[in-house]
Order: sequence, then structure tokens, then C-alpha cells
Amino acid sequence: MPLVDAEVPIPEIGPQDVLIRVAAAGICHSDAHYRAGISKIDNLPLTLGHEVAGRVERAGDEVKNVAVGDRVCVHYLVHCGRCEFCRRGLEQFCATVQMIGKHRDGGYAEVIKIPARNAFALPDEISFEIGSIMMCSSATVLHALNKARLRARESVAIFGFGGLGYSALQLARAFDCDQIYVVEINPTKLALAKSLGAAAIDANAGDSVEQIKEATKGKGVDVSLELIGSAKTMRQAVQCLGMLGRAALVGLTKESISIFPYQEVINKEAEIIGVSDHLASEIPALIEFVRSGKLRFPEGALRFVDLDARQINAAFDQLQSSIDHVRTVIKVTSDM
Ligand SMILES: [Zn+2]
Ligand SMILES: [Zn+2]
Repeated sequence: MPLVDAEVPIPEIGPQDVLIRVAAAGICHSDAHYRAGISKIDNLPLTLGHEVAGRVERAGDEVKNVAVGDRVCVHYLVHCGRCEFCRRGLEQFCATVQMIGKHRDGGYAEVIKIPARNAFALPDEISFEIGSIMMCSSATVLHALNKARLRARESVAIFGFGGLGYSALQLARAFDCDQIYVVEINPTKLALAKSLGAAAIDANAGDSVEQIKEATKGKGVDVSLELIGSAKTMRQAVQCLGMLGRAALVGLTKESISIFPYQEVINKEAEIIGVSDHLASEIPALIEFVRSGKLRFPEGALRFVDLDARQINAAFDQLQSSIDHVRTVIKVTSDM
């Protein structure tokens, strides 16, 4: 179902909410999936957009973490803050968790209402455009590396060098890891990974696991990240692990994978770790990686469209066929 332009009332804010004047909203692959009906949205009509940055226009009486006029980016999981999981800082499991732009109105709009705790101050060095697109895949990759407990000087294998992989490689370097293997089939992406300091593993040139084993002198890697969502690469992400290795699975698939429990997991005390979304507590570190230039976005990779249904639908159409690192951002208000 295509997106349409609609006039909606400006939402009323509660004492703990903020109203944000949206400056930029990223267009994400998952938005294209919502439009296509691949991921179902239950409460239509709904405003899409979960990668959002802008300026606080109104703040409720009890809001303390941000103030009117502040530049902010938005953490997209709205949670109750009171349940058992929220109290433990694991809000992605909150019983009433809502994703902005999927379960409640998102940022393809002039303004958005969110709980103030979902707003994080955006330093002046980070543009609104980058502030919007960093809040999805880059945040999830950081969560994956945290879940995998990546430590300095450990080796990492990254399966897939799209947007997630691009962030993963830089974050791994920021974690002081220099043995980074990127597994890909696309020659342009392999060349890019190499230029960023990774060892390129061409999956077309032979078995990726064998290549990683050879490059690590038979040891295997400490951490692997599966970012593609295929049973084949998930299996490889487990098989390429060394002793005490951790495979973090981020990509989605409906296929099942088979494992040899003894050789591949038990004997090595290896771990297979699921990764879903990311946490509010990780956002300040993410912002600092971007502010300090340790996490960058590809040169010239941003495309801009206006807040206009026709332009946004066209951007979705292009997204389905694209294989490069281009990101499209809706520039909602440019004079901020
Ligand atoms: Zn996204
Ligand atoms: Zn909760």
C-alpha cells in the first residue's frame, strides 16, 4: 500500500513527553517492508519513520533530560519504564514496548510526540541527517558487539557488508580490533572493506570458513557477526569460531540451521547469541563514536527527498533494487 500525504492534528503531550520538530527522518529497508506488507502493521493509518532527529519544540512539565530548543535524536523503542525488564534496562522485552513508526506514529511528519526518555541530545558536530540514520542499523550493530562481548585485540568476522557491516567494521576498529575479516560476494564491497582496513574474504573464491581458518592459522575468530540473514552464512558464522568464540546473529531468516553440537559448540565452549534491536543505555556511546569520527557514514552516500508521499514512495521503489551504501533521508525542515 503506497504512502499518502495526510493532514493530522498536532499531538497533545503529557507531562513526561516532548514534541519534536522533525529535521530529518531516515528511510530504512524495514519501512519498505511495512509498505509492501511483508512486515504487517496492525493499526493503520500510521505515520512511518523510526530514524528521527530534530529539535525539541515543547516539553512536558516533568521533563528533565532535554529542554525546548535542544537538538535531539530519537531512540525508537517506547517502553513503560516500570516493568521487570524495563527496570533491568532491557526495554526491548517490555510487555508494552512499541516501536516508533510501526506501533505508533513515527517521524515522516513535521512533528512527532515521544516520551522524553527516548530523546537524546545530539551534539552540534553531528548533522540531523546523520543523527537520524545512525539510530537504527548502527545502534543495532553496536548492540551486537556488546552482546558478543567483543574486547580489544580480538578477531572478528563480519558476514555481509551492507549498511550494518559498514558500521560493524568501523565499530570493531573503535573497539581496538585489527584482525577483521569481511565476508562478501560483491567485489565493490570487498574493495571498500579492504580500503577500510579489513581482510576481504571473497565468498565466491572458495569456502569462507576455510579462508578464515587459513588467515587465522587454524585458530578461527573470537567473534562473528551474521548480518545477512541466510542459513548458510549463519552456519559459517558458527563454524569459523575459535575456542570460546561468540557468534552474534543479527540477520533474519525463516530457514533452520544445523549445528554439530560437539565439534562446533560444546568442545569449543562457543556461544550462539541472538541480537534484537538495541538499548537506550547504548545510545550515548553510539553518539560519542559518531561525534568523535570513529563511526562515519560513506562519503556522498546520502540522498535527500522532501516530506512528500510521491518522493518517498519513489525512494522505497529504488531501495528494493539497491545494493550499495546509499541512504535516503527525508529532509523535513531544513531551516533549523
Ligand atoms: Zn531502520
Ligand atoms: Zn516495561
